[in-house]
Amino acid sequence: MQIKLSNGSNIPVEMHKIKIVQKTYLNPIQERLKAIEEAGFNTFLLRTKNVFLDMLTDSGTNAMSDNQLAAMMQADDAYAGSESFYRLADAVEDILGFKFVMPVHQGRAAEHLLAKTFVKPGSVVIMNYHFTTSKAHVELAGGKVLELCGDEAFETASSNPFKGNMDLDKLNNAIKTYGADKVAYIRMEATTNLIGGQPFSIKNLRDVKTIAAKHNIPLVYDGSLISENAFLIKQREKEFVDKSIAEIFRTMMDIVDILYMSGRKSTAVRGGLIATNNKSLFDQILPWLPVYEGFATYGGMSTKEVEAMAVGIREMSEINAAGSGAEFVEYFVRRLDQEGVPVVTPAGGLACHVDAKRFLPHIPQSEYPAGALAASIYIASGTLSMDRDANGNDVLSDLELARLAVPRRTYTMSQIEYAVDRIAWLYRHRDLVKGLKFVEEPPVLRFFFGRLESLNHWEKDLAAAFEAEFGPNF
Ligand SMILES: *Cc1c(COP(=O)(O)O)cnc(C)c1O
Repeated sequence: MQIKLSNGSNIPVEMHKIKIVQKTYLNPIQERLKAIEEAGFNTFLLRTKNVFLDMLTDSGTNAMSDNQLAAMMQADDAYAGSESFYRLADAVEDILGFKFVMPVHQGRAAEHLLAKTFVKPGSVVIMNYHFTTSKAHVELAGGKVLELCGDEAFETASSNPFKGNMDLDKLNNAIKTYGADKVAYIRMEATTNLIGGQPFSIKNLRDVKTIAAKHNIPLVYDGSLISENAFLIKQREKEFVDKSIAEIFRTMMDIVDILYMSGRKSTAVRGGLIATNNKSLFDQILPWLPVYEGFATYGGMSTKEVEAMAVGIREMSEINAAGSGAEFVEYFVRRLDQEGVPVVTPAGGLACHVDAKRFLPHIPQSEYPAGALAASIYIASGTLSMDRDANGNDVLSDLELARLAVPRRTYTMSQIEYAVDRIAWLYRHRDLVKGLKFVEEPPVLRFFFGRLESLNHWEKDLAAAFEAEFGPNF
């Protein structure tokens, strides 16, 4: 919840108390240097024992509630007919309004089933923007992905509140070009991850639906971050400022044909689901569920997680849960912006994205500015971020961002302030950061396992500057 202080500033206040804690480690600077060198300057290859703030992702790293943990104790382990499934189905119907639901082991499993069922060789799937796994499954099924967000989505400094919107002219043109029968479905991603966690508006969703319905194309909603998109709609879309998060959910879900989601984000569990009111669409997907995931009442999930997801779906419709990540993201972005650090604006739903092209303009894209930035943020603060060019390959991506994800209800204000301070320090010493080169480069999704080297061992100079200012420790 945002609270106005008597000095006029706003701060996000945690509307929960901490009942279980996990130790974290802030290693001295020389140990951080050693760890990043050993990890081949790839933050995916660091061990968490060497990490202070794990901001690699908000996936599966959120703090669960006491009620979620309690619900896990009543898990009903049964291959078929589990009561846990019926509690999940009730929550989906009560909160999201869908009668038919299938659990899956995580979000990409839902994407696999949708692509398997609806995408044929030569199909196209139209998206506001892609997510890595959603694109991979469409392409593996022989389809092609079109990304039709507005051009402003690629302007990192912006005041456009809905950079995740679909461009309607581009959408109409694409349907005309490819033919409606070739469009397997239209996918709208809530708080569009790879362009900086940017939301779309309900007005845009309605307009997309009108076009989709005219051509009989199913509208699919990737709701992995549904509560963050709903929260930002409440803040930014006039028609909905007085609506509850629950009402905004129902408005959105009434528009779409199929919802799928990873449960690892908004619902703070490890799982996923597909839901719809269209029995014919549901019946086309269902036969594949036991082939790839598990029987219809568990879909590859542990029944404990099914129980926790049922509670998570109810809880994510409460404003303090829906805003628990987004408000910290807004604060993080605002503070870095105040310090002059180039960040993606406006703040999005899941992470603070630092613009590596503007942070390190002296590093050409061929020397991986986002990778160098993620490595140097780790050296300066022990914070784990993700550098991921949006394609994961050597095509120069539209954006070079280092993503600092904010897991929900996991870190506190002082930890965010520490990260802000050290990233601002790094920005003042940005000339010391140079590029990277690959020494081991896997053929696909190379950001996961690739190893790099620094050009001229710039990390040693950076660490020396850090020690000169802060001493040998933190
Ligand atoms: C995380 C995510 C996925 C994939 O979900 P997993 O649970 O990681 O498989 C798909 N779409 C979006 C928008 C996501 O954030």
